[in-house]
Amino acid sequence: MNRNVLAVSGSGIRKFFDLVASMDDVVSLGVGEPDFIAPWHIREAAIYSLNKGETMYTSNYGLLELRQALSRHLKESSCLDYKADGEMLVTVGVSEAFDLALRACLNADDEVIIPEPCYVSYGPLTTMANARPVFVGTREEDDFVVDAENIKEAVTNKTRMIVLNSPNNPTGAVIPKDVLKEIAGIAEDNDLYVITDEIYSDLCYEGRHCSIASLEGMKERTIFLNGFSKSYAMTGFRLGYAAASEKIIEQMMKIHQYSMLCAPVTAQRAAIEAVRNGSAEMLRMKEEYNKRRRVIVRGFNDLGLKCFMPKGAFYAFPSIKPTGLGSEEFAEKLLKETKVAVVPGNTFGESGEGYLRCSYATALDEIKVALERIGKFVSEQALG
Ligand code: PLP
Repeated sequence: MNRNVLAVSGSGIRKFFDLVASMDDVVSLGVGEPDFIAPWHIREAAIYSLNKGETMYTSNYGLLELRQALSRHLKESSCLDYKADGEMLVTVGVSEAFDLALRACLNADDEVIIPEPCYVSYGPLTTMANARPVFVGTREEDDFVVDAENIKEAVTNKTRMIVLNSPNNPTGAVIPKDVLKEIAGIAEDNDLYVITDEIYSDLCYEGRHCSIASLEGMKERTIFLNGFSKSYAMTGFRLGYAAASEKIIEQMMKIHQYSMLCAPVTAQRAAIEAVRNGSAEMLRMKEEYNKRRRVIVRGFNDLGLKCFMPKGAFYAFPSIKPTGLGSEEFAEKLLKETKVAVVPGNTFGESGEGYLRCSYATALDEIKVALERIGKFVSEQALG
């Protein structure tokens, strides 16, 4: 067995949700996926493609038509300049793109700086790519924005890469442009790659999203990742993409070509429809998340569980420190006693201890029921 694979433990979230699945009437704020169904016109494009008999492989890079649509979209929405031919690779979700980026850029024992709390895959994928994750904590007092000074201090002569995720899963933090500039400076001074996972970039509720890839001099060292799972409620289509310099895409492409061949053609057709005509439906879903965001954050604060106002994505990250319970203990007791599922904050890294991740990609009525039950649970803890 491979040592690095053995060293990685299975996802804590999955274990927890196996337990949830075995119970009835659970109100779940746990899962990190939209409760919406992918808009009809997007599903229709997939059906149409199947009806036409499109059941074959595509180019390894993905359909040129999709890459062209994405290239235009990135230019218009984020001032990012990527050629459809050579600088873009369509992948099976951001998950695959992330894995390819690590495997293409890193050598054994290279270090990768990862601000945490972070998405559960980053550490394990880094380990399985034979490299070493170096986590840098973030704090509620800083709105969970990574302090560039802490990144600088974590750099050693083995550091090869910094991973960014803005808006962040699980905190909803968005890294402001001035901090991105500082991080870009560190990457340039130390000749580092940057992976920027921007899967929630369409779900920014306050101000415009800025990508580190758009900063001067950063395109050459950045691997920009995005996908369709969150913005268009298309998790099951499994479609994402990477954009980077030709030099990097060429290497990522080799791994993709031999291990995956291409992303499913049906999903690629659906994605073309999403990127061309999906913005109205996407904005409608975003507006709904935004309403829920306000309700859930106010709800937690009213219960005495201080909750940072997330600036993007669809997660609230309330502090449970006043209850004296650890994150896991809180989440387990809450599930068993009140049938509300949340994810312990420490699942996402050490600095997530004392917090819960509560997804508001859940209907408003359910959020209200969950808040009521959590309120009762918290007051019972206070009574001892
Ligand atoms: N990146 C982040 C930050 C996520 O939260 C998720 C899913 O929860 C993914 C990547 C996985 O995305 P995909 O469905 O495109 O593989």
